[in-house]
Amino acid sequence: MPILSLKHISKRYGAIQALSGVSFEVPKGAVFGILGPNGSGKTTLLGIVTDVLKADEGSYSLFDAPPAASLRRQIGTLLETPNFYHYLSAYQNLQIAASIKQRPETDISRVLGIAGLANRQHSRFKTYSLGMKQRLAIASALLGDPEVLILDEPTNGLDPAGIAEVRELILQLAQSGKTIILASHLLDEVEKVCSHVAILQQGKLLLSGPVNEVLAREDFVELSAADNRALETVLSRHPAFGHILGRSTHLQVVF
Ligand code: ADP
Repeated sequence: MPILSLKHISKRYGAIQALSGVSFEVPKGAVFGILGPNGSGKTTLLGIVTDVLKADEGSYSLFDAPPAASLRRQIGTLLETPNFYHYLSAYQNLQIAASIKQRPETDISRVLGIAGLANRQHSRFKTYSLGMKQRLAIASALLGDPEVLILDEPTNGLDPAGIAEVRELILQLAQSGKTIILASHLLDEVEKVCSHVAILQQGKLLLSGPVNEVLAREDFVELSAADNRALETVLSRHPAFGHILGRSTHLQVVF
C-alpha cells in the first residue's frame, strides 16, 4: 500500500508553472527524497500534500484513501523553522507545541528521548547547538506519534555536525518504521539517507524510483538542451553520475 500517491498534480502561480503533471508513489517505510534545484517545485509539492496549498489539477491519496482530516493526524510536518522561545527550555517549548497541536503532554518525554535530547530537556533553547535545535524541531513534528514525517530541507542552514546529527536521526526514525518524505536540493543528502527519490526540475518529474536503481540508471529519455544544463548542475555534484556526464553529451532522463 502506498503511503502517498500523486496523480498528475499541477500548480501555477500566475505566470509561473510551479508543478506540471507530477505523479509518483511513496511506499510505506520509505525515506523518500524529493530532489531538485531551488525553484523546481519541491516546497509547492509538500504544501499540496499537507493541505497548505490546493493543486490546480490532479489528485492524491493518503494511505490509499482520499485525504481526510483523520488521516492527516498520522502525518507530522516540519515545513518551516518553528518559532521556539529562546528563554524557555526544550521541554517547555514542546509543552506549548503539544498544546497548540492538541497532542498529549505525556508524549513530550518520549519525543525528546527519540531526538536524543532527554539529558538537555531542561536547558534553555538558546543554549542549544544548531543540530540540537533542528532535532527539537523534528521532536515537535513527532508529537502524537505520526506514522509519516514530511520534512522540507531538514539540514538547510546547519553546520556539518548538525547535518550529521539530523541525518542520523532520520535514519533512526526510518529504522523504527516511520515513512519519511523529505525535500532536498542535495544529491549527496538523498544518497546518504533516502531509499527512494523523485527528481524534479522546473516543476516536472524527471526520474523516480529506488535510489540505487535511479543512481545506476542509464536508459535516459531525452531532455531539452536547457533542461540538460540545469540537470547537470544537480547531477555533476555526484561522482556516480560522472561517467554518464563524461561519456554522453546528450543527457537523457527516464520518466
Ligand atoms: P523549491 O521548493 O524547489 O525551491 P518552490 O515550490 O518553492 O520550489 O517554487 C517553485 C516555483 O514557484 C518557483 O519558480 C517559485 O519562484 C514559484 N513560487 C513559489 N511560491 C510562490 C508564490 N507564493 N507566488 C509566486 N510564485 C511562487
